[in-house]
Amino acid sequence: MLKILVIEDDELIRETLLQLLEYHSYRVIVAENGRFGVQMALSEIPDLILCDVQMPELDGYDVLRTLRQNSLAATIPFIFLTAQSDKTDFRRGMELGADDYLTKPFTKDELLGAIASRVSKRQTITEPLTVALHQAEARLKDLVNESTNVCAFSPEKLALEALLRRALAQGEFQVYYQPQVNIATGQVIGAEALVRWQNPDRGIISPAEFIPLAEETGLIIQIGEWVLLSACAQAASWLAAGFSPFTISVNLSARQLSDPELKARIVQILETTGLEPANLELEMTESALVENATVAGATLNELKALGIRIAIDDFGTGYATLGYLKQYAFDSLKIDRIFVRNANEDAQNAAITTAVILLGHSLKMTVIAEGVETEAELAFLKQHNCDIMQGYLFSRPQPAPIIESMLVADQRLFAPPLAAPARVVPFVPLSEPEKSKNLSMSGLGIV
Ligand code: C2E
Ligand code: CA
Ligand code: CA
Repeated sequence: MLKILVIEDDELIRETLLQLLEYHSYRVIVAENGRFGVQMALSEIPDLILCDVQMPELDGYDVLRTLRQNSLAATIPFIFLTAQSDKTDFRRGMELGADDYLTKPFTKDELLGAIASRVSKRQTITEPLTVALHQAEARLKDLVNESTNVCAFSPEKLALEALLRRALAQGEFQVYYQPQVNIATGQVIGAEALVRWQNPDRGIISPAEFIPLAEETGLIIQIGEWVLLSACAQAASWLAAGFSPFTISVNLSARQLSDPELKARIVQILETTGLEPANLELEMTESALVENATVAGATLNELKALGIRIAIDDFGTGYATLGYLKQYAFDSLKIDRIFVRNANEDAQNAAITTAVILLGHSLKMTVIAEGVETEAELAFLKQHNCDIMQGYLFSRPQPAPIIESMLVADQRLFAPPLAAPARVVPFVPLSEPEKSKNLSMSGLGIV
């Protein structure tokens, strides 16, 4: 089903378009202003955008200009909706790269005709590419599994790169989010973005399978940029909807860390999405830092200077020495799940976890425990003053709409106390229609 994004500040027109297009079997997402529109276009990558020209703050021209500068959204067909039929407006829109222009009031047939024509043109352009990539795919059915045996410059490798490229172009990647929870309050205070590949033949492929390949081919740069953009757009939207505090954590691979363009790309992503640097945390492993210590170290310091938070991931499993902690002044330290597992009863894991929490705190870092699966592990972490937890006990990584419903419901780690103190406003569960109303009002992800 084709997905259309409607960016329109007039509620009546927006709702009318929504109903009409849904009636004609399009999947419709709406944004009530330009900034939301850009965020949704970048996180949802719709098949077509209908956008009002006259809007406060970011008008239709600004929206189009921003999207055309972005490699992910640059080719999405874009139709302007305008109350004016002024030729200069028309020309300005076309010069910026609009595909069509509808002057209000337009008829239902004009609208549906314009949409159908744009969509069929796009299919004609992308079809030859799709056929070529399908041929590559045919030779590659199980290559993802066997990729460790593939030698450096083999045709298979190139074809695999094409497969990953196609996945990127066709929107087969998706970002899942795993909530991060404040252990003292039980509140969700952020999430880690974890990429998933929804392959048409193989279903969901874990990043553990394809990230190493993407690293080798260099495509991790584009995939990583896409993850960053989607995650920042999503976090900006949740913050704008009032879910605060909220920090979005994004993984950076070794290759990304040694990319000289990384800082500029991140600055651009923050500008485009409107996310504050302090709401972004970049996770890097010790191994990624060691791999290219000079460049990675310089990049890391530049990112920190922008106000972005830096976390050391999988702490204790890599090759770094404690000297790294001193050298880089990380904001957060993530204890790897191999140490968290059974920390409540495994004496060695208990010793390591306790020591790492103390070490982190004495270096003024926030300590995050990953892979928390049981109540007993959680109780152990709480007893030892670990700050934040993440793990299946609270939630697996999930698509954005599911996380959004947790935020809306203020789902917490601990069940609320049985007898509520008198001053506390009693909890009134939302009825299903109210829930869905709240969800769609919060602006993102619910379709
Ligand atoms: P990671 O950064 O250590 O991410 C945590 C992994 O632990 C995730 O696996 C998550 O699903 C899993 N996990 C979370 N809670 C639990 C739990 O309670 N029990 C168990 N057994 N596992 C848990 P996932 O999503 O398969 O990701 C694997 C690795 O792939 C990540 O490890 C990260 O290194 C890499 N990765 C994922 N997304 C990205 C990305 O966008 N960019 C880069 N560069 N790497 C990514
Ligand atoms: Ca991580
Ligand atoms: Ca980790």
